Order: sequence, then C-alpha cells, then structure tokens
Amino acid sequence: MRRQGRRDTKPELRLRRELHRRGRRYYVDRAPLPGLRRRADLVFPRLKVAVYVDGCFWHACSQHGTRPKNNRDWWDAKLDGNVQRDRDTDRRLTAAGWRVARVWEHEDLTAAVEIVEAALEEARRALVGRPPGMVTGRSQPGAQQMSRSGGI
Ligand SMILES: [Zn+2]
Repeated sequence: MRRQGRRDTKPELRLRRELHRRGRRYYVDRAPLPGLRRRADLVFPRLKVAVYVDGCFWHACSQHGTRPKNNRDWWDAKLDGNVQRDRDTDRRLTAAGWRVARVWEHEDLTAAVEIVEAALEEARRALVGRPPGMVTGRSQPGAQQMSRSGGI
C-alpha cells in the first residue's frame, strides 16, 4: 500500500464508501486528463466526472481556512497558489468536456454525496443526449394526487 499524506483523508474515505455502497464505481487518485499531472480524488472516466475533496486549510475554505501567522507571506503565496491552481484545473477539465465536483472536507456526508450525485446525473443526461427533466425517473410528488380529485 502506498502512503501519501494527502490521500485517504477521512471525509474522502467516508464519501468513497457511501458512493460505493450506492453502486458507484470510480478510480481513486488518478489524473483525469492525460498530460495534465493533476490527480483527482475520484474519477468517473465514462461520465467524465472528476471529484475533489478539498481540505479546508490547503484549499482556503472561506469558513475554516486559517493562515499561519509565522511566515505569513510565504503561506499567503502558497495557499493563494493552491486556490489558483484549483480554478485552473477546473477550467482545463471543463474545457476538455469534464465535470468537476468539489466537496469541502467540512461538508457532511449527505451534502457531499448530493454534490457528486448531481454531477453524475448531469453527466449521464449529457451522455444520453436527452433534455434535462426527461430522464430523472423519479416520481414527482403531488403528480398522482392531482388526478385523484379529478373525478368531478
Ligand atoms: Zn471548511
């Protein structure tokens, strides 16, 4: 087993476990684009969805991102650089037809799963080529009740 500092963090593991339980299959820690040496935490190659679980510190979360006081300039450059690289990664992936789902490590599991599932669903619709709303397959609450009172 490889050991890498920024991989297999707890929020990421929980997310992976839950997606797997839901039948989602994905690659872990893989570069979505050949030639672009930036790995995503989860990669769904067929649907072209890349998932990143961003740590609040390293990716400068607006709620919990703190900046060390010592060597302030260095840290500012470092963390701002990370954020710029994230946005650049998003742009490159989007330009190549990928969808990017970013989940903060502070997000609770339900919210994180929803973000990923929404991206997968969007990607699936795009792949099928049908207009949004036609392929959700979910029963609309209320739709059946409407006809029930239609007797008179
Ligand atoms: Zn946060």
